Amino acid sequence: MRKKIIAGNWKMNKTFEEGLALVTEIIGMTKDEYSGSAKVVLIPPFIHVNAVSKMVAGNANIQAGAQNCSNYDSGAYTGEVSAGMIKSCGASYVIIGHSERRQYFNETNSLLASKTDAVLKNGLTCIYCCGETLEEREANHHFDVLKKQVSEGLFHLTAEQFENVVIAYEPVWAIGTGRNATPEQAEEVHVYIRNLIKELYTAEISENIVIQYGGSVKPDNAKELLNQPNIDGALVGGACLKADSFLKII
Ligand code: PEP
Repeated sequence: MRKKIIAGNWKMNKTFEEGLALVTEIIGMTKDEYSGSAKVVLIPPFIHVNAVSKMVAGNANIQAGAQNCSNYDSGAYTGEVSAGMIKSCGASYVIIGHSERRQYFNETNSLLASKTDAVLKNGLTCIYCCGETLEEREANHHFDVLKKQVSEGLFHLTAEQFENVVIAYEPVWAIGTGRNATPEQAEEVHVYIRNLIKELYTAEISENIVIQYGGSVKPDNAKELLNQPNIDGALVGGACLKADSFLKII
């Protein structure tokens, strides 16, 4: 059975001190109130990853992740961070293909396929993001866009590698806008993605893969979204920056 994963993407927010204070609060609150029915992933900026990993190391249900990584292993790539470095800092997850990386840093599906390889080669779990723009949804092209993003980024992987992949469906029009997809809209896409995986891989892999929803998930809409049978967790932006709202979602 799939275990839900609630991941908090801090984006480029929080100084070091602010970040550690947030983690302290989350750890403290999860001790008292959290039943452990979902996995929790904290995804701070790179320079906080090592410290956050150490802070959550003793907690079986909370892990750390990174927001991006290089497709290269090492070398003269100024400003880049490799998957191996992330692993050595104690993180377990890496987000690949967030729409902000696709949009502002021109990351293409083929680059993302090689970043996914780097993540998996280093024994980390990849959270692969996909999602259509408002224009694409209004033109009814969203299924085609999603098929292209998912197949070009992931369908070169072996069945075994797929065990370490999580997919996050994040409609671009819902990210940071306060306008979430309805539970029905999200569920429809999650079923579509699961079926794509079933067609190319096996029914077992498609049943086991965790497909998160992301896009303005908040305490007041999380329950309805997460109650959908094919929504296996959330990738949370804005609402993960405060311990109480993140904890309510968890
Ligand atoms: C995100 O950054 O992945 C995201 C979904 O952001 P928000 O929750 O703020 O829409």
